[in-house]
Amino acid sequence: MTSFQDLGLAAPILAALTAEGYEKPTPIQAQAIPHLLQGKDLLGIAQTGTGKTAAFALPILDRLARDRKPVPHHGCRALILSPTRELASQIAQSIRSYGRNLKLRVAVVFGGVSARPQAQELARGVDILVATPGRLIDHLDGRAVNLGHVEVFVLDEADQMLDMGFIHAIRRLVPQLPKVRQNLFFSATMPKEIGALAADLLRDPVEVSVTPVATTAERIAQKVLFVETARKRNLLVDTLRDEGMGRTLVFSRTKHGADRIVRHLEEANIPSSAIHGNKSQSQRERALADFRSGRRKILVATDIAARGIDVDGVTHVINFDLPNVPESYVHRIGRTARAGAEGSAISFCDAEERAYLRDIERLTRQTIPSEDHRLPATVAAEATARPPAKPARGGKPGGGRGQARPAGGGEGPGRSHGGQRANAGQRGKPRSDSRTEAGGQRRDGRGGEKPIGDMSFMKPARGR
Ligand code: AMP
Repeated sequence: MTSFQDLGLAAPILAALTAEGYEKPTPIQAQAIPHLLQGKDLLGIAQTGTGKTAAFALPILDRLARDRKPVPHHGCRALILSPTRELASQIAQSIRSYGRNLKLRVAVVFGGVSARPQAQELARGVDILVATPGRLIDHLDGRAVNLGHVEVFVLDEADQMLDMGFIHAIRRLVPQLPKVRQNLFFSATMPKEIGALAADLLRDPVEVSVTPVATTAERIAQKVLFVETARKRNLLVDTLRDEGMGRTLVFSRTKHGADRIVRHLEEANIPSSAIHGNKSQSQRERALADFRSGRRKILVATDIAARGIDVDGVTHVINFDLPNVPESYVHRIGRTARAGAEGSAISFCDAEERAYLRDIERLTRQTIPSEDHRLPATVAAEATARPPAKPARGGKPGGGRGQARPAGGGEGPGRSHGGQRANAGQRGKPRSDSRTEAGGQRRDGRGGEKPIGDMSFMKPARGR
């Protein structure tokens, strides 16, 4: 079994890892670090929870510490781009802990807070800069930062960058980097546009793939509860009152929906906090701190705000709404079962969301066990409202939107693959949902995307 010593990291870094309580490298660390220490480019297929932050942070720290140089004024030696503020500050926090014995300067810049102190810090120069793309572009436009001294460039959560519309910003930033540099590229999934971006950025990269999306899903006990939209809030209260519920993350597709859930829970005397893009930075930080410390057992979040949140011990994820992008389901439920722990995911699904459920089941290659919590009158009404079954392309009829399926245990082997394929055309169709936090964005042209389970050659990271 590889140890951190075997990887060849500098002694002050090893001391910091011991202080962190890290005993051995996670699979992505064991595989990536030796190549990164040699200066190779890397394509990492991994999501949060795999230890990927240390996988890129440790070799960067090692490189900068061994080859000490004065920090470039208005610049940095390593640049890490992250899609969200939460993730950016978590990365910076991790780098500071791993680099506690190195005296390197680390800065983090993101939007939603004043740009001036960031510009002042950048003017003095830093070793490592962690940034969200939008704010970094602002600083570039304001000439507060110059990327001409970057030796290592990390693009983290590239697929999320795409979902959040940052690809254009990234394509603007890259030409400002020196031509000779080390590139690290991380993504949980590989949609076509991300594959193209990786191909443009990386030179002869080493590829490392861990915790494939489908495998993550398999590790978590999952259940779908069919319920009318109007009854979801009461079902949530009933579910949360269950004694087995521990630290629970509730997902809402929209910011307003998240606030409504918090208000409803308050009325039911269940304290919770919300975290989403309309909250101020300090509100988000407080909500996260309360959740982390256990002061609040329930955190209601939108996909984007929750992205990359690293909170151990989340026992349950509740999808109040199903996400319209199936990969988000995997990211959501991946908030539980971190570091090898077991977890549960419960998803509420109304008639409108059946198509999303089918997309999720196809991506994760599983049938999620279901329970029917609908009123008998709804079941009858939905049965009569069901559109006449169209023959599927080359297959059996069925699989139409809103189609009921038997309660209590999924559809079993009788489930028509023809029906799934018949729905493939609906898949790319965005629900007219401009209220979603990412502006209802949905990737187009995803035909070339395949679940990364296919690309994995590793078992999921466990037992850390
Ligand atoms: P990440 O995937 O980078 O978000 O990391 C997930 C969590 O695993 C964080 O809480 C890290 O502190 C923790 N972690 C990372 N590497 C190790 C390791 N080698 N041993 C134990 N915990 C780790």
